[in-house]
Amino acid sequence: MLNPLIADAYRILDGETLTREAAHKLAAGVGPEDILDLASLANKVRAKYAGRIRPCSILNAKSGVCSQDCRFCAQSARHHTHIDTYPLLGREEVLKAAGEVAESGVAFFGYVTSGRGYTDPEEPEFRAILETLDALHEAYPELNLCVSIGILSEATAKALADHHVRRYNMNLQVAPQRYAELIATTHTIDEKIATIRFLQQYGVAICCGGIIGLGETMADRVEMALAMRELGVDGAPLNVLIPIPGTPLERQPLISAAEVAISFAMIRLINPAIMLKFAAGRETMMKDFMGLLMLSGLNSLMTGGYLTTRGRTVAEDEAFLQQLELFG
Ligand code: SF4
Repeated sequence: MLNPLIADAYRILDGETLTREAAHKLAAGVGPEDILDLASLANKVRAKYAGRIRPCSILNAKSGVCSQDCRFCAQSARHHTHIDTYPLLGREEVLKAAGEVAESGVAFFGYVTSGRGYTDPEEPEFRAILETLDALHEAYPELNLCVSIGILSEATAKALADHHVRRYNMNLQVAPQRYAELIATTHTIDEKIATIRFLQQYGVAICCGGIIGLGETMADRVEMALAMRELGVDGAPLNVLIPIPGTPLERQPLISAAEVAISFAMIRLINPAIMLKFAAGRETMMKDFMGLLMLSGLNSLMTGGYLTTRGRTVAEDEAFLQQLELFG
């Protein structure tokens, strides 16, 4: 028999919004036996409001040596990880990577740098980034560029908008009220939210996701999804924590695929129309459950590898997506 809480949530398909109270009640009231029913509803909501699968690929344009202390991240200079570090890539290297993405048919290209961010529009590294973004726009006007370079001021947000940036990634990572405890102490969630607001003021769409498996509760994930809705974000990359040796989370217990499925479905039910993207942890942590999880309300995936970990190739994911398109 269908869990009555799930039956009630079918009203989302009639255009109703899941209230905060109903979302918490639903998340607390579904068990492992309800997973396929909940995923099925999330997938119907995805099909009705968010559409087919659109992959995305990212380039880490500056790696490691970061001053910040994000507990999950291999790029923090405060953790003892063994990753490749390099300074800001030059324009030619970025253009080459973007060209390969464009040629592979992937529609979204993410330009990502490690570090706290940029608040001075005259800083030489920020000026170099603007020049690269101009060159990217000129060479590949069709490519949906998404920039992720950290915390901004109003002035740097405006400069990005003036240099053709129409989409920006700034992840909440967790429920805002738990950011300092679970993510970082060197910057605040308020600085991230202010960055989102500055960019929105200049017409930039926001891609704003999170990580599942940091030690947060299901209620925290519901709060994160509600915060995304309140911020009016356009898309959200969803990561499953990869506990990287040398980071404070290296011994974090692994989360079950069942819990990830419920989390993804809840995030979709709270945010019916946004682009929900399966990012890190898809291949490495969720392995055989990748297909089930894509069916839990997602309509995008990150392909071709992540910031500091490998993923599947675009060709492998293309074959996978051809199967997914059976229900897209
Ligand atoms: S997530 Fe970004 S800001 Fe945080 S440590 Fe990693 S690179 Fe630095």
